[in-house]
Amino acid sequence: MDATKLEGSAVTKLIASIVTVGEELLIGQVLDTNAAYLAAELTRLGVPVMRSLTVGDDKEAIRGALDEGMRHGRLTLLTGGLGPTPDDVSREAAAALIGSHLRVDTTVLAAIKRRFALFGRDVPAGSERVASVPDGFEVLSNSKGTAPGLWYQGENGSIVVLLPGVPHEMKAIFSEHVIPRIRALSGRTAIAQRTLQTAGIGETEVQRKVEAVSHLLDPDIIVAYLPRLHGVRIRLTVTGKEASNRLDAAERHVRAKLGAAVYGCDNDTLEGALGGLLKRRSLTVAVAESCTGGLVLHKLTNVAGASSYVAGGVVAYSNMVKQYQLSVDSRVLKQFGAVSEPVAIQMAEGVRARLGSDLGLSVTGIAGPSGGTEEKPVGTVWIGYADDHDTRAIKHQFGRDRQRNKDKSAIAALNFMRQILLQS
Ligand code: ATP
Repeated sequence: MDATKLEGSAVTKLIASIVTVGEELLIGQVLDTNAAYLAAELTRLGVPVMRSLTVGDDKEAIRGALDEGMRHGRLTLLTGGLGPTPDDVSREAAAALIGSHLRVDTTVLAAIKRRFALFGRDVPAGSERVASVPDGFEVLSNSKGTAPGLWYQGENGSIVVLLPGVPHEMKAIFSEHVIPRIRALSGRTAIAQRTLQTAGIGETEVQRKVEAVSHLLDPDIIVAYLPRLHGVRIRLTVTGKEASNRLDAAERHVRAKLGAAVYGCDNDTLEGALGGLLKRRSLTVAVAESCTGGLVLHKLTNVAGASSYVAGGVVAYSNMVKQYQLSVDSRVLKQFGAVSEPVAIQMAEGVRARLGSDLGLSVTGIAGPSGGTEEKPVGTVWIGYADDHDTRAIKHQFGRDRQRNKDKSAIAALNFMRQILLQS
């Protein structure tokens, strides 16, 4: 396609395509974090991403992908293939795309030489390649490395941006040079997003509840459900004026329906939410862990300031430690087994008494992959809670994967205590 011809309304509206280059991406050796980063940033800037494509280090494939990008939108962003080796051919492909030629940019070459001199190193072979710029492209300086970004804007407004593959270099050029230009071009159509974090509730249930209040939500709000191990995230997106107020209103309706299942939004963590509750109530906690091997305490202590509410814990993996460190009754262990309600409760009571905390939390379970029985299959986990006048326990049945069972148990334990505190 002739790069100066662009279809329809795409000329006026900024719609983006992303092209990532590299054999390492195609064989799954390197995860394509550049595409994810660019997609998130463009969305944040209000520029819809219509397609994302990965190609190998092949000039024709790259040229084809750029051509395809330009066919479908006004803005095409490429990362990778700008290095010094002969297999880095993104510049050649871009030159071919617009029918121009490469020339060595003496300013870029001088900057590369200065950079190496600064580190006391010889200028490596291939630097001229890195300093080659297709005629018609503008140089976007690279504050974190050698290969600059390159910007092309055709007469009809279509734009091609080439960025290095190395993620931190790509991000630096994108935020220093590309974002300001996109803002100027897109007329600052704001997209606002808020992600509500939930725990202890499945995706179908979340969806059912949110749909039950959908008639109360702003009709322009787009709701997306993003499940992960820690719980389901609910992403609310709105475009246009008063975005923040409209999101506030939507959040209120969703929270009212989901209640305590929502523990926070955006970057909030479950352990942070629990920590906040403990701190506000001036309570301390101690944890007795069997199958999670310290993971609950690890998570709790990931929160800055946790020392004001975390007393400590005991990793009671063997029955001996459960008995001698946590005073779990040997007859109870024998009668009910280590993975049982009474043992979980005695562990929580025991750690609380031993460490002198206000609250005790415990986890005991069969992480797998072996060790299960018909009565207690792999993935059976009991979580115990104890305070001054109350003890409780809850059973979970997780799957067969050891790591996932540990993670899920730790999350369930934190959420169990959070829910109890919210009820009291
Ligand atoms: P260089 O000057 O290092 O050769 P380049 O622009 O040619 O830079 P590549 O050689 O394609 O970039 O990639 C350099 C490194 O950056 C890769 O080895 C890879 O680790 C990382 N990388 C490249 N593309 C991506 C991507 N899409 N997502 C995440 N990492 C990437």
